[in-house]
Amino acid sequence: MNRVYNFSAGPAMLPQEVLERARDDLLDWQGSGMSVMEMSHRSKEYMSIAAQAESDLRELLAIPTNYKVLFLQGGATLQFAMVPHNLMRGKGTADYINTGVWSKKAIAEGKLYGKVNVAASSSDTNFTTIPAQETWNLNPDAAYLHYTPNETIGGVEFPFVPETGEVPLVADMSSTLLSRPIEVSRYGIIYAGAQKNIGPAGLAIVIVREDLIGHAPAGSPVMLDYKTHAENESMYNTPPTYAWYIAGLVFSWLKKQGGLPAIAAINQRKADRLYRYIDASGFYKNPVDPTCRSWMNVPFILPKAEMDAEFLAATKKAGLISLKGHRLVGGMRASIYNAMPEAGVDALIAYMQDFAARHGG
Ligand SMILES: *Cc1c(COP(=O)(O)O)cnc(C)c1O
Repeated sequence: MNRVYNFSAGPAMLPQEVLERARDDLLDWQGSGMSVMEMSHRSKEYMSIAAQAESDLRELLAIPTNYKVLFLQGGATLQFAMVPHNLMRGKGTADYINTGVWSKKAIAEGKLYGKVNVAASSSDTNFTTIPAQETWNLNPDAAYLHYTPNETIGGVEFPFVPETGEVPLVADMSSTLLSRPIEVSRYGIIYAGAQKNIGPAGLAIVIVREDLIGHAPAGSPVMLDYKTHAENESMYNTPPTYAWYIAGLVFSWLKKQGGLPAIAAINQRKADRLYRYIDASGFYKNPVDPTCRSWMNVPFILPKAEMDAEFLAATKKAGLISLKGHRLVGGMRASIYNAMPEAGVDALIAYMQDFAARHGG
């Protein structure tokens, strides 16, 4: 068996230990005589899997008791609509920070529900910076402020948590949740699609402060109302049971690594090593302001776009997969989430060094 170093932005690598555990459980989960995929979500066995996953996630993130954790479907993209649907609360206007592709998608959905005030944007730097909070045009009457702490495509990350006073702060943490400790109490809602840093696609995690539940408009479709999911332990309908189970294995793996402080130290080391090499190479370039470079998604460009195909062609033989940059940005992108071992980053750097040396770098 040859496992590759997979730099895909999502679905992304999972820890090998998690996959091995899932393999061992596949036909017969702990003597139940069935696979987790075949279990009723109402069964005692599955309820214990679901509850353990939630309790491990709560422990990892130190989630306060006045927050609900929801395990939903529809990806992060459905949250672009569920957030305004549940949080607009008749106010009719919300603040958004535009730092790239994912912010823009959230903004477009927000506009379906009310007025969107783009309180700050980094479009003037082609989304390679984060605007300082002093320059933002926040509306004190906004229903909420939405931002994208880590822009997966641009590889740009907020080096601070916005201050919003009484206005609930909403964060799309799809590509950064669990990469380091965070202070959950600063947020009204945190949401994330699982397939970046949590588990398999098909699952979205929503961490929502209880006072923000129960404000969907009258006549709301049940599935769009946070209250439905909060009151039914995310089991109003059949949840994505297998993805939830795998996410639970990932949480347990993270605890074994020493929790988020330990994984954060590794993540920072991996990112620092890669950026340091890129900057020192005189060959590759990362366009993002060094103060807001992502730990998770590292875009880099070669001296000439004509070199891209050759760079990519040989990566596969080196066991390095999915390095092609997003179609909107071009160049390369290495996504180095929690499950990417340090040896994977070292192998990438060795490949880059060799390629540069052979091309006059
Ligand atoms: C991947 C991603 C999304 C979209 O997630 P889906 O689960 O595919 O809906 C949204 N926001 C960010 C920041 C992402 O990285």
